[in-house]
Amino acid sequence: MLDKLNGRLGGTLSFGEPMSRHTSFRIGGPADAFFIPRDAHELKRALQMAQEMGISVTVIGNGSNLLVRDGGIRGLVIKLSGTLDYVHVLGNILRAGAGVLLSTLVHVAVEAGLTGLEFTTGIPGTLGGALSMNAGTFDGEMKDVTSQVRVLTMMGEEIELKGEELDFGYRHSALKDKNLVAVEATLALAPGDKEASLARIAELHRLRRERQPIALPSAGSVFKRPPGRFAGQMIEQAGLKGYRIGDAEVSALHAGFIVNVGNAAARDVLDLIFHVQSKVCEQSGIWLEPEVRIIGEDKREGE
Ligand SMILES: Cc1cc2nc3c(=O)[nH]c(=O)nc-3n(C[C@H](O)[C@H](O)[C@H](O)COP(=O)(O)OP(=O)(O)OC[C@H]3O[C@@H](n4cnc5c(N)ncnc54)[C@H](O)[C@@H]3O)c2cc1C
Repeated sequence: MLDKLNGRLGGTLSFGEPMSRHTSFRIGGPADAFFIPRDAHELKRALQMAQEMGISVTVIGNGSNLLVRDGGIRGLVIKLSGTLDYVHVLGNILRAGAGVLLSTLVHVAVEAGLTGLEFTTGIPGTLGGALSMNAGTFDGEMKDVTSQVRVLTMMGEEIELKGEELDFGYRHSALKDKNLVAVEATLALAPGDKEASLARIAELHRLRRERQPIALPSAGSVFKRPPGRFAGQMIEQAGLKGYRIGDAEVSALHAGFIVNVGNAAARDVLDLIFHVQSKVCEQSGIWLEPEVRIIGEDKREGE
């Protein structure tokens, strides 16, 4: 069935593509079919074709918030990082494609003398992934700057949504609930001081280098912050810093991160997540919820 996509989608199509090549964890089994469109038109056609053929679709950005199970992903995976990566500056506004990396976006903004995106420093995702996650830090979140988003439904229908219509919350937006694919966003920034922005960005990079295990594969903070608490602190208090299952380890630098110290399988990370949840719950009565999005299928026995 999936081979019927061959020669009909444009872009780059492959079969059995290991998702470990497309996630910051460096973990994940194969995608049945894996497609990188060259533009929004090809993206739309791929969604329409998959819909007509009854093929399930998973859209990813830069794979920096994903844990893909070892059995991989059935159906079609569409990757937007590396495509749809234009940025236009229009006064205080940026109009950008969903595939652009946040690092590029903040660079363009600062060069244009605009402020408001510095909080994205060190978040290794695309604009689309950041909108889906309402990515952010204590300094700000995507909700603060997003004025409009052009999306596609899974049927390939185009819709313009205002920021308010995206129902942004803590690491949440309507894109996921409604299965919408972000194609382009309009971000409202403010005139700023380039030197001040560059200084803030350098400071944020320094803090990340000091406090986060950025040299090792991970998906950032694994758990959401429970109200009024810090997941990392709770994990540390449960004595789990450095705790390891297979090659998955609770980072000794920042207990909120799980790092892949070698050849970790998704199963190792999932078992470690469960162990952390159980131990923290024993101590505090709070069950930590994953922030990382866990997708795909487990490996079957004997595979
Ligand atoms: C070292 C490190 C540090 C991090 N620090 C932070 C941080 O400070 N704050 C923070 O919030 N996150 C952080 N993250 C997590 C991650 O980078 C963000 O969540 C980022 O926004 C994910 O973007 P992505 O393009 O990689 O999305 P992916 O991981 O590819 O996808 C994440 C989700 O978004 C969906 N998605 C992706 N693209 C689209 C699209 N175009 N339309 C609709 N849905 C889409 C996917 O289906 C998936 O559900 C960190 C990760 C790492 C590895």
